[in-house]
Amino acid sequence: MSLKTSKKTIFRKNTPMKRIVEYVAEADYKSYREFLKEDFKGRCGYCDSFYGIVKKDYHIDHFVPRRLIKKFITHKHLENDYTNLVYSCPSCNISKSGKWISENPDIDLVDEEGFINPCSDNYTSLFYRDQTGAIKAVENNKTATYIHKELNLSLERHKVTWNIEQLVNLIENIEESPNPTLKETLSNSLLENLRTHFELVLKDDE
Ligand SMILES: [Zn+2]
Repeated sequence: MSLKTSKKTIFRKNTPMKRIVEYVAEADYKSYREFLKEDFKGRCGYCDSFYGIVKKDYHIDHFVPRRLIKKFITHKHLENDYTNLVYSCPSCNISKSGKWISENPDIDLVDEEGFINPCSDNYTSLFYRDQTGAIKAVENNKTATYIHKELNLSLERHKVTWNIEQLVNLIENIEESPNPTLKETLSNSLLENLRTHFELVLKDDE
């Protein structure tokens, strides 16, 4: 795939799917780390960065933030409820922190602004990648614009991580290809991608 020919690409290939975990009152949410890593396939639920490229320990984010959970006795279970946990890169977790559009855990959207469940196709469809691999909010969508801004999805690191992963995948395909013609085509594509990427990076710096 050449970055030059594809102007817009999908934000992420897969929407994460979480297993059903029976709620255990005395459980500690940190004990679900391995479940989360598996269910999210090692990818941040918010920006889709792969932990293998980011090379940093991922966090466990509370979708309804702990700040609010602590205020409402009726929602205390969300502290250790698997349905409220999101595998998250440090950047998205820190950006999201205690943010919530209302002071009511049950009201997640106000005038279409707020966070929606990242494990939903609706979340996946809020964003796309431009020709540089940067995450963009779809036009005229207040929810997309809100999340994009509040999670700092325009940060350079999200674009760089995505581009590195494309290059790593391409290199793996070249190495695994038994066909010399295909190998050459893929190698040319790799060079083209590298050139495009550096052109774009240089352009950004101007
Ligand atoms: Zn992230």
